[in-house]
Amino acid sequence: MRDFVYTGLPSRVVFGSGTVEKLGEEVAALGINRALVLTTPEQESQGEELLERLGEKAAGLFSGATMHTPVAVTDKAMGVFENLSADGIVSIGGGSTIGLGKAIALRNDTPQIVIPTTYAGSEMTTIIGQTENGKKTTQKTLKVLPETVIYDVDYTMSLPSVMSVTSGLNAIAHAVEALYAENANPLLNIMAEQGVAALMKALPVISNDPLDRAARMEAAYGAWLCAVCLATGGVALHHKLCHVLGGSFNLPHAETHTIVLPHALSYNAPAASDAMTALRRATSSEMPAAAFFDVAKSGGASTALRDLGMPEDGIDRAVEITLADPYWNPRPLEEDGVREIIRAAWAGDRPTC
Ligand code: NAD
Repeated sequence: MRDFVYTGLPSRVVFGSGTVEKLGEEVAALGINRALVLTTPEQESQGEELLERLGEKAAGLFSGATMHTPVAVTDKAMGVFENLSADGIVSIGGGSTIGLGKAIALRNDTPQIVIPTTYAGSEMTTIIGQTENGKKTTQKTLKVLPETVIYDVDYTMSLPSVMSVTSGLNAIAHAVEALYAENANPLLNIMAEQGVAALMKALPVISNDPLDRAARMEAAYGAWLCAVCLATGGVALHHKLCHVLGGSFNLPHAETHTIVLPHALSYNAPAASDAMTALRRATSSEMPAAAFFDVAKSGGASTALRDLGMPEDGIDRAVEITLADPYWNPRPLEEDGVREIIRAAWAGDRPTC
């Protein structure tokens, strides 16, 4: 046992299947009388369903949520919120929709209820990233932490199988880094190991049958645990690389995490023996990094950054940006080692640990 510091965050979680039935109670518990429902255009019909469910507690729907939380979209949603005299938010969707709700709460501290439909994990965190003039800035503040999260597995059934795999590996990456983070602690270690185990059990089943409800339940449970790891644990080189690669080459979020994780973990493995022991248990594999790669590949996800459109001559640029402003990492950053991670991720090599 080592010294540690643990910070819990005040959020309420309602978990299960059919839990959307509790929406009315949860809205009332937060004192919301006029809820603005947020979705992406693709999930508008789910938003309409919630409006009906909310009845007189519904103020209206804004279905313009989009990737990277652009400030211009938040301005528009804020206008709708104010015109409708809304006093709370119900977000249904993935990180993009949840990000919009957080951006509104950042401005007016309005209460949020979130129904996550992917495994990305934003619902449990105080992190908000916003984009303006092509630049993404990220901050952490309790103002954006959703007060209530309703995990209703029924809303995850429609997540396409490949997206389920990439989103699940995005979640796993949060747990992996929490295990070897600077502020690792025993409670998060338990959550991280269980979260990885649940998702690694569920994802291959979902790949074969996206409608397998038991596997969806397991995946959502794992995603929640991994989200807590992101929320209260730390991140390291893997998240830094994904931030750099996503921002510099406009690469998609979950897919980039999926491709980079096995290689970032391979680099850190020699400096993270306790984490590797936990991950061997969680993946039932002697080679956890390869196990993550294999789940991605057999689930039909891209395993090479070049397939996402990253140019080969971008490798050196990504190394330079990563080293210019690094995150804390268990293994000191060596230029050649970082280049090798990005090269292997670009080429799609299978890791050997
Ligand atoms: P997303 O929210 O961008 O969703 C991708 C697409 O899938 C959207 O069109 C969405 O409508 C659709 N979709 C979502 N759930 C679905 C379902 N069940 N069935 C059918 N379609 C569905 O994807 P994401 O990976 O969840 O979120 C990525 C974004 O979230 C990134 O911008 C990332 O930076 C952010 N994020 C933030 C945090 C944080 O703590 N602030 C954490 C994780 C991710």
